[in-house]
Amino acid sequence: MVRLEVFRLRRAAARRQKMRCHYCDALMWLRDAAPFLVRFGLSAEQAARFQCTAEHLVARRDGGPNAKSNVVAACRFCNVQRHDEEGVQPLDHLSYRAMVRQRMDEGSWHPPWATEKGIVEWASAACKKPEPARPE
Ligand SMILES: [Zn+2]
Repeated sequence: MVRLEVFRLRRAAARRQKMRCHYCDALMWLRDAAPFLVRFGLSAEQAARFQCTAEHLVARRDGGPNAKSNVVAACRFCNVQRHDEEGVQPLDHLSYRAMVRQRMDEGSWHPPWATEKGIVEWASAACKKPEPARPE
């Protein structure tokens, strides 16, 4: 039940975000990597990085609900990095997003091929995009 709900929320978020990662703005794939592989000329390993995942802005264990206001779509890499260190509280989503964008500016987030292949279209100006409203 919950799993299906998360699946629906993820799909809806991906559509709202036009298949771009909430944090790094990279294009993602949702169900089938094959068209993505072909389109961008990637290996399966490269494509895995950009699989669309459901990201809870406020983690479930911190009381974040399975709700539209709390679920965004993020690429697997950004999602995993946020929750990387076991036992360490991840950054809140706004701080994390700012950190990702700074790393993008520095060119130290995704490997160069992600930009070369057109998955990431990063410009510093994107940093000035307004932050999304905080979930209630
Ligand atoms: Zn990302």
